[in-house]
Amino acid sequence: MHILHYNIKFEDSEFGTVYVRFDTRCRQFRSEFDNDRLLIRAPQKYEVDFFVQLVNSNREQLRDLRERTNKFESQAKAKRKNIDFNFSVDADHFSFKIVADNTTISLKRTLDNNTLPNKVSYVLHLPESIDCDEPSKQRWLQTVFEKALEEAAVRILLNIISELSQKSGLQFESFKSGHALSRWGSCNRLSRIPKTFGPKRGFAVVDLGEPTQEETYKHNIIISAYVMLMPDHLIKSVILHELTHTRYMDHSPAFHQTVDTLDRAILGKSEAECEKELNSFQLPFHKL
Ligand SMILES: [Zn+2]
Repeated sequence: MHILHYNIKFEDSEFGTVYVRFDTRCRQFRSEFDNDRLLIRAPQKYEVDFFVQLVNSNREQLRDLRERTNKFESQAKAKRKNIDFNFSVDADHFSFKIVADNTTISLKRTLDNNTLPNKVSYVLHLPESIDCDEPSKQRWLQTVFEKALEEAAVRILLNIISELSQKSGLQFESFKSGHALSRWGSCNRLSRIPKTFGPKRGFAVVDLGEPTQEETYKHNIIISAYVMLMPDHLIKSVILHELTHTRYMDHSPAFHQTVDTLDRAILGKSEAECEKELNSFQLPFHKL
């Protein structure tokens, strides 16, 4: 799964839509398959014809790569399970489990309110007789689970984004929780802010220098509710990526440099380390 940002796409008769991303951190071309979509990373800009040619001359190797990736993915899928009485999640800001209860069907929520609400725990009460593997029941269980994730995201994420906004000095206007699995976050420009309301930098722990032109706009940040399944530092790395888009709307070297600076200062890890962890993140259940 990827934060899929692409610069070019084109159709290939064998591989379907091919996505190309210009990524100046790459020293060479890299290809990967993500949900059977071919994604190429290129160290610099080229025209689309160049990539058509590249795919043509590497067709054999790409075929191999697709086969290996599919095999790996189906093995990973087989290890994932349905949501049932044995299923439980205990992440940094979210937990969920199911208990047998023959008197009621209900979802109970508790909030850990120590200072800020920082963990939401859900217990689903279900009669033992329910067959969780039956497809319609499983679909219902997944819907309940996703509703819990969304509710937790609304309660938790705004606090985390606000905290990171303060630490980075990067301002945002509004936040929404989304439910995309293909991208963990996005950032949209809303409208221009009058000059006097520009970013405040006084309390930031990271000095990013003078505000950019982009920062004189209001931005809306959208974060997928699925990030609630991640450890705290990965949630924060997704948010820092999107907050940095309030400064640079692209994935230029300056953008990645800033994300890396923030990740290291606030999370103690490099951007590359966080991205590697994000890419290997797997859902704990087999989504229908
Ligand atoms: Zn981005």
